[in-house]
Amino acid sequence: MGDVCKYYNKRYTEDYNSQVERLIRYLPKQFPVGDKALRNITIQVTEDCNLCCSYCYQINKSKQRLSFDTAKKFIDLLLDPDQSKNPAYNSWENSFVILDFIGGEPLLEIDLVSQICHYFYKRLIELDHPWKVGYMISIGTNGTLYFDERVQRFIDEFPGRVSFSITLDGNKRLHDSCRVFPDGSGSYDKASAACLDWNKRLAEGAVPASKLTIAPENVMYLKEAVLHMIDLGYVNINENCVYEDVWKTSDATILYNQLKEIADYLIENDLEEKVTLRIFDPTLYGPMEEDDNDNWCGGDGSMLALDVNGDIFNCVRYMKSSLGSDQPPLKIGDVENGIAIAPCDKSNLECMRCITRRSQSTDECFNCPIAKGCGWCSAYNYQTLGTVNKRATFICDMHKAEALANTYYWNKVFRKHNEDDIRLPLECPREWALPIIGKDEYDMLAELASY
Ligand code: SF4
Ligand code: SF4
Repeated sequence: MGDVCKYYNKRYTEDYNSQVERLIRYLPKQFPVGDKALRNITIQVTEDCNLCCSYCYQINKSKQRLSFDTAKKFIDLLLDPDQSKNPAYNSWENSFVILDFIGGEPLLEIDLVSQICHYFYKRLIELDHPWKVGYMISIGTNGTLYFDERVQRFIDEFPGRVSFSITLDGNKRLHDSCRVFPDGSGSYDKASAACLDWNKRLAEGAVPASKLTIAPENVMYLKEAVLHMIDLGYVNINENCVYEDVWKTSDATILYNQLKEIADYLIENDLEEKVTLRIFDPTLYGPMEEDDNDNWCGGDGSMLALDVNGDIFNCVRYMKSSLGSDQPPLKIGDVENGIAIAPCDKSNLECMRCITRRSQSTDECFNCPIAKGCGWCSAYNYQTLGTVNKRATFICDMHKAEALANTYYWNKVFRKHNEDDIRLPLECPREWALPIIGKDEYDMLAELASY
């Protein structure tokens, strides 16, 4: 069998963190790597937001903001050469850090973000910390305040260090169906103007990328949205279905049909080697090896996140602002006492660090023939099932639809290029596919997958 990745540029599908991780591998050996070369640290500067998006995972917003004093204590805890209050995440053992600012909407607190970054950098220099050359700043924003002069000044204060992740859900119709201001008006015009400006300012060679969140309210507009993003110059479109308990099998049918139309468009317009969709990946949607046993995401104790009260978590989704009253926040420390020092913080962290794909998955999921790429959110698992060590699978039908559309796309690409010895096998079992796409469509996919 030929190389199924022949027309696939994996580099384009990387998110910002993976890009940094890849680049780190080219650096000289003297940089410390510890358990991880790169540490991700999230700082929640406010719980407030100027939008009220329908699918927002932060269900418990408030006007609370982080104080500079609390942020300072957090930075001191991380950077202190005496790591007795922070034995679980010794920053001196990692060469690189991404400081990720989130909210609510973090640009509401751009002055505080700037103050924190200046203090952080000053301490790195004073301590001669390894992160002094290896730090980046990332801001996940809705983009509506991007043109504020204080935001523009901040970008200039840290040249080459700042990365914006601006959420743009495809086109105006799709974006404005979910991402609205409190008066119900859409935020698309502001967000897209911010994206266009930021993409222009990206360093040469950087690939403009965007995240697109698929929810039941917008799945029917997916093709329109992806085509619009291609028109805007995006070549890497990272789309994901929400993990929540909101999906019906009929949504999976809609997703399959939308993806099939996108596939036809890419192929008819010779875009298969120029545009990459996260969903169209020939290396996904097959079975996984038994020893491929890692947790899906960083919600297994490898990241750090500070909330507005000075409590420390593994991920923002373990905070009260995300969990609401569904579960108690799952903290692992606080700025006064340290990380994993109090017995219950220590035990929470140990629980997270123990989870594996095997420990969370049913036999059906562990041995699933299309398991590759079927993800989960450990914090959402905790929120909905009361434990990080079980896996919510509300996304199951949507993943099956993706797997089926992926087979359609790649086998069409191979046939277009007369690659007679390359086919992507149809791994999704017939009995799983029939409720989503019906018998005739399944037979057509089987025919496409044959040599
Ligand atoms: S959720 Fe469904 S598609 Fe995903 S691994 Fe489990 S059985 Fe497979
Ligand atoms: S726990 Fe959820 S939000 Fe946190 S890293 Fe994992 S997938 Fe992302």
